[in-house]
Amino acid sequence: MLGARGRVGSEICRAVERADDLKLVAGLGSDDALDSLALADVVVDFTTPEVVMDNLRWCIGRGLHCVVGTTGFDTARLDEVRAMLADAPSVGVLIAPNFAVGAVLMMRFAAVAAPFYESVEIVELHHPDKTDAPSGTARRTAELVAEARAAAGFDAMPDATSSGLDGARGAEVDGVHIHSVRARGLVAHQEVLLGGPGETLTIRHDSTDRASFNPGVLLAIHAVSSLPGLTVGLEPLLKLG
Ligand code: NAP
Repeated sequence: MLGARGRVGSEICRAVERADDLKLVAGLGSDDALDSLALADVVVDFTTPEVVMDNLRWCIGRGLHCVVGTTGFDTARLDEVRAMLADAPSVGVLIAPNFAVGAVLMMRFAAVAAPFYESVEIVELHHPDKTDAPSGTARRTAELVAEARAAAGFDAMPDATSSGLDGARGAEVDGVHIHSVRARGLVAHQEVLLGGPGETLTIRHDSTDRASFNPGVLLAIHAVSSLPGLTVGLEPLLKLG
């Protein structure tokens, strides 16, 4: 485990130790050498966007399968991981922006609903110690919503805003607005608001405890060695296509 003393990493270490069929080989933090990871079958990374690419390079170079929850994986980064894997065809890397099963379902439900509504906006709400905004889950939801709208032949969403303060309409990912809230007391939450004439639909997911990530991470740990190459998202493991 890389990031073993972190908020999520420490939770996952406990879950691995509780699992009958898994053994925690090493739990490392930012000051630790990576060498002890060489004894593991699978490396789990919940660290920071600044260090995760170097960690992946090290692990892939040694033939270690990787399960990655660290955020910040845009298209360029995913391409870089694919390039690393080109020289290690038997290695599996699974990167998921959200390991909570409910969050994966929320993204799927949002994509299913998107072609039925003119307007879709995303509000993500997290604890104030989160360093990146918008969240990886919100970005991914926006991409999925945009893909579903494009496939349905939708134009841009209605929005008459012609003046306003910078940031008032949030960030835009593929034409979908994302609003990021940071407040003490929150863990990880997201609402997808869909609107059409005379109705709105709100799809909301709440992670109220970091234990919500454990089942998805354990599922990925068990599956990743049989998934050579790069897998993005938990969807294939949940048989969601
Ligand atoms: P956190 O509490 O700040 O933990 C990050 C940990 O990374 C720290 O404990 C730090 O170790 C460790 N670290 C930094 N550099 C390292 C290195 N080179 N080698 C090993 N460990 C290193 O953060 P968090 O809330 O657990 O979140 C971690 C990441 O997961 C973030 O990117 C977050 O956005 C993401 N996340 C993803 C999901 C998901 O479902 N995909 C869910 C929640 C969070 P030290 O304490 O030793 O300095």
